[in-house]
Amino acid sequence: MSTTTSPSAASARLDELRTLVQRVWGYSELRPLQAEAMAAAVEGRDALVVLATGAGKSLCYQAPALLRSGLTVVLSPLISLMQDQIAGLVESGVDAAMLSSAQDGYEKSKVYEMLRGGDLKLLFVAPERFATPGFLGELVAFGLSTLVVDEAHCISHWGHDFRPEYRRIGELRRNHPSIPIQAFTATATPEVRADVVRQLGLREPVLLVGSFDRPNLGYRFLPRSDAAQQTLEVIRRHPREAGIVYCLRRADVDELARELACAGVRCQPYHAGLEAATRERNQDQFLAEDIEVIVATVAFGMGIDRPDVRFVVHAAMPKGVEQFAQETGRAGRDGLASECVMLYSGADFHGWRLLQERSHAEAAAAGVTIDPLEAERSLARLSEMYGFATSAVCRHKFLVQHFGQAWESCEPCGACDVCLGELEAHADSVRAAQMILSCVVRCEQRYGASHIADVLRGADTERVRTAGHAALSTFGLMRDQHPREIRHWIEQLVGLEHLRVAPGRYPTLSLTHSGVEVMKARHAITLYRLPVAPKAKRGASRGVASDLVFDAALFERLRALRRRLAAERGVPPYIVFGDRTLQELAAAKPLNVEGLRGIRGIGESKLRDFGAAFVAEIAAHAER
Ligand code: ADP
Ligand code: ZN
Repeated sequence: MSTTTSPSAASARLDELRTLVQRVWGYSELRPLQAEAMAAAVEGRDALVVLATGAGKSLCYQAPALLRSGLTVVLSPLISLMQDQIAGLVESGVDAAMLSSAQDGYEKSKVYEMLRGGDLKLLFVAPERFATPGFLGELVAFGLSTLVVDEAHCISHWGHDFRPEYRRIGELRRNHPSIPIQAFTATATPEVRADVVRQLGLREPVLLVGSFDRPNLGYRFLPRSDAAQQTLEVIRRHPREAGIVYCLRRADVDELARELACAGVRCQPYHAGLEAATRERNQDQFLAEDIEVIVATVAFGMGIDRPDVRFVVHAAMPKGVEQFAQETGRAGRDGLASECVMLYSGADFHGWRLLQERSHAEAAAAGVTIDPLEAERSLARLSEMYGFATSAVCRHKFLVQHFGQAWESCEPCGACDVCLGELEAHADSVRAAQMILSCVVRCEQRYGASHIADVLRGADTERVRTAGHAALSTFGLMRDQHPREIRHWIEQLVGLEHLRVAPGRYPTLSLTHSGVEVMKARHAITLYRLPVAPKAKRGASRGVASDLVFDAALFERLRALRRRLAAERGVPPYIVFGDRTLQELAAAKPLNVEGLRGIRGIGESKLRDFGAAFVAEIAAHAER
């Protein structure tokens, strides 16, 4: 049973923790809020820790668990992530185990043996196991001293991933009030946060909320012209590097995967329509670095912890800013510079809306009552995403503000297309906007974007002839512009909510109140030209240690060695060493095992197990 520790004893323990982190994990420093979270742990206090993906939540509970007497139980919803964490801990010389209903009797009995022997400091538990009657009592009997709730938003209806089993935690709190509970999540909305505290019954919790910005991600939004070609351009900026390409529909996944494979990309598809065995094989190939790229629907990624994903491409716009943040969040978990590219089009906006309307209609036909407010909210989220896509504010700033945090900097962020100056403002935005808006009015607000663009460029189409629109004063006003550029501007006007797209089958355009103001030149506006090829070659990033100069050929050699060692041990390569560790090795080129000390990510256990092999590889490279 844990009791609260005095402040001076706690500070001595924190020093002990730092030494432990250096010895076991090979990290010489703690990241922001890790020390605070660990302090709460050693003081035996309840805590809610909200940190962005990749910020280093697991260390916050793993390290204190090793120092604490008794057993730390980590409740976590995804078996694959638990397996990864355990594999990583075992490679670092730490005993950890898991209990889930997917295990056979033999595996379970081995874990129980360890528990009875008191050999285990860290036990990971899957939700359904946690909710089995009598299980809580067993944990307490095995000396449970702290409960860690990972992905704590799963306890909240407000979160995106509600797990009813998480509600059993309340029982533990009632029956064993002295056992501290520490909750971790990357989901940050205030409702979820408050709900987690309430549902878990946290008492005066230490609340730690980190920055939601992901400075190592570079964002770039491009109007979609040719998804395969544009995706290939991104892939070619990242030779031999891992990436995920997200599509809306399964058919799009299959087609794009085929096209990329024809272009020589080592990739596989992933979606719910594939057989489970195929899906699993493709995912394993990705984790084992046998392929570089996975083309997927959003079904892919929940259980994926590959930390060196260097790019995420959205071949179509996601249906909300939250989804965008979550999916792009799978890039660069190791903190190294990574690129996120979204291809979007007004067709995505319309396509999502049709899907939404259809699913609501189907639900209604099936007698399910849908909250009309919910339908409205999902439409609002879609509009917000579209506005984000077509607007030209710093992408980092927009995201941070979207999640309710202040953006302090006035400087360009240096890691998005807007701040890198890749978007070029149209020199005569006001006039272009006026032409488009008045064309919509002249067409009596009864036509969609493609017809409006046809009229503006003076096209001789069937519909123009039937409607007699060649006689309009706006006919041919934009004769000199590229049709794609006109469409791009119309989309920006929709994104800025100066134009409204009618719901239903005919997406006709009409002016909003602000649209009228813009048409009358009473409202400032900037429109952007179609982006040209990115100036910065790769995903630029802000303030991350990506400026390390290392021997790229040696880095590739070390990656190959890492892959071989991992295959021998039956673990994914990133469990052996992260990219950052290999980069530091390829920079420092140590020629003896002692020289590996101080390299980030090399603790005692890995030094012993892998040190000699890596030093030999570095020496062989030097002789070459
Ligand atoms: P989260 O769970 O918050 O998404 P992880 O716990 O998976 O993040 O950590 C992300 C990455 O950061 C991992 O590769 C981890 O090893 C690394 N990491 C965590 N803490 C530190 C630290 N203090 N110094 C260096 N690397 C760290
Ligand atoms: Zn920016």
